[in-house]
Amino acid sequence: MVAAVSLANVHKVYNNTCVVNDLSLAIEPGEIFGLLGPNGAGKSTTIRMLTTLAQQTQGDIVVAGYDVRFQAAEVRSEIGVVLQQVSVDMDMTVWENMEFHGRMHHIPAAKRQEDIRRWLDYVGLSDRTSDKVKTLSGGMKRRLQIARALLHNPSILFLDEPTVGLDPQTRRRLWEIILDLNKSQGMTMLLTTHYMEEVEYLCDRIGIMDQGQLIESGTLAELHQKHGSGIVMKQKGDRWDYLFFPTLNEANQYLDAQPDKTGMMTRPANLEDIFVELTGRNLD
Ligand code: ADP
Repeated sequence: MVAAVSLANVHKVYNNTCVVNDLSLAIEPGEIFGLLGPNGAGKSTTIRMLTTLAQQTQGDIVVAGYDVRFQAAEVRSEIGVVLQQVSVDMDMTVWENMEFHGRMHHIPAAKRQEDIRRWLDYVGLSDRTSDKVKTLSGGMKRRLQIARALLHNPSILFLDEPTVGLDPQTRRRLWEIILDLNKSQGMTMLLTTHYMEEVEYLCDRIGIMDQGQLIESGTLAELHQKHGSGIVMKQKGDRWDYLFFPTLNEANQYLDAQPDKTGMMTRPANLEDIFVELTGRNLD
């Protein structure tokens, strides 16, 4: 199968600093792939290169079968992009924002009207069409960004920190939209986040990025298989030591066998634990 997105030995250097360092990755059509990492890991820079907004210093990037360096226009017609900073025009209405984007993509008038209506309905903004964007809540603005990104019928959607700064309920709603787009339309998605619950809930496969490098990737099950699913925590002064076990059961058995269990507890391992194990640091 031809990958929907592929990066081969990609580097990005800013001011003599390598912010993306030898990144190689392939995302299959229909997959939701999550890039997880702390701030500054290079996730946004990766998205910017994939979406033709920044050019790689070295390496090859192919998106929807097109080389981002030489076929940028073709890439742009195949992708939808939802960036971290809200990129919709605040002084225009919801409808005008959609209309503007539709014209930029040369969508014929009749189809444009029909699709704008369809996507605004899909994201639940039909009753806000003539409101200025600046009057919308953060979650509504994000939904408008998604509707706009979908208007020209892209096959791949890129979402850079799609739910950052949103309350848990709004985040859930966006997750449902993202999952539905993937399941009902088979849309390939790459999203970045530093929320581990987001990748645990949404993603078929996960890549963990740190300091410009992809330090681990696989399905959640594969990552647990490799690093462990159960943890014994031991309090040492004001910090905790972690011991990984293949299963929670084995972690419990280990704890049961300890003559002195003071300051010890077990729990299931999560992605953050795996990140800490790999890097010695937290995700935030
Ligand atoms: P993340 O999205 O994982 O938080 P970024 O890709 O935004 O990480 O940033 C990675 C590193 O690249 C950071 O150290 C950031 O300061 C640097 N960086 C990003 N964009 C630029 C730029 N346009 N010029 C210089 N440095 C940049």
